[in-house]
Amino acid sequence: MAQIIDGKALAAAVRAEVATSVQKIQAQGGVVRFAAILVGNDPASQIYVRNKQRACEQAGIFFELHTLPATCRYEELTDLVRKLSADQSVNGILLQLPVPYEVVGNRLSEVINLIDPRKDVDGLTVTNMGLLASGGRGLVACTAQGVLHAIHSVCPDVSGKNVVVIGRSQIVGRPTALLLTNENATVTVCHRLTKNISQFTKMADIIVVAAGCPNLLTAEMVKDGVVVIDVGINRLTDGRLVGDVDFAGVAPKAAAITPVPGGIGPLTIAFLLKNIVSAYRL
Ligand code: NAD
Repeated sequence: MAQIIDGKALAAAVRAEVATSVQKIQAQGGVVRFAAILVGNDPASQIYVRNKQRACEQAGIFFELHTLPATCRYEELTDLVRKLSADQSVNGILLQLPVPYEVVGNRLSEVINLIDPRKDVDGLTVTNMGLLASGGRGLVACTAQGVLHAIHSVCPDVSGKNVVVIGRSQIVGRPTALLLTNENATVTVCHRLTKNISQFTKMADIIVVAAGCPNLLTAEMVKDGVVVIDVGINRLTDGRLVGDVDFAGVAPKAAAITPVPGGIGPLTIAFLLKNIVSAYRL
């Protein structure tokens, strides 16, 4: 049976480190200030923002929430992002996604790129994505850092490993693949249009699944001794929360696996806090 990677314990250690850094900053008279922007009233987004607020407050980070109605104009949102970007006392900015289509249309990336890259704690601006793609390090997406941290906890050196990342979103799959490439892993990125995903997963030493599709990775698709990182969060009709991996089937074959919940979710929050402190230093 696989080692279960305890995301909560790993996250607690990162959060303790962050709290110590914040205390040092405060002792020198500094204030770490983080601004979240929430547009509309999507219930899941409201929960995510509340969790971020609680985590910030526990770490001693000053949290402020800016809300706009789903009926706001595009310019109201861009004015707010510009104002926060220019405000010297704000260290980190996060635009909670998704932003209602009625507000941004096809211009979401234009809004994101108004965020000062030094405050872009989601690592989504072209500057930060470009730095990551060129092998440097600006601010990197929190979930991708959480995935790498979970992998390192069981496999400190990924150099030369065959890694398959399923999912290529800007916020998870893509930055995860880039981080692993920068650490000299051989990375294959699969997505919705990939034909016969199991031909790739069967060769993989490490598999990261970030698709939002329950039971996407099953036991027949993996080799013995694989490390499996399940990023997916899916709510089933019976109310259960599951990942993208058939945990009961895959775990007996794996060397290590993350659970859902209690795997990458807590690490994402921990690395958000870490990014906010990094942004303060920038
Ligand atoms: P997304 O919808 O933006 O991207 C999904 C990606 O997966 C796409 O590239 C798509 O091509 C691919 N995909 C979808 N179905 C597939 C299939 N059947 N086969 C192969 N590829 C497929 O989603 P996202 O924002 O990247 O999130 C992915 C999942 O991770 C979601 O379940 C989301 O809730 C979860 N998530 C978890 C955390 C966390 O902290 N644990 C953070 C962010 C996202």
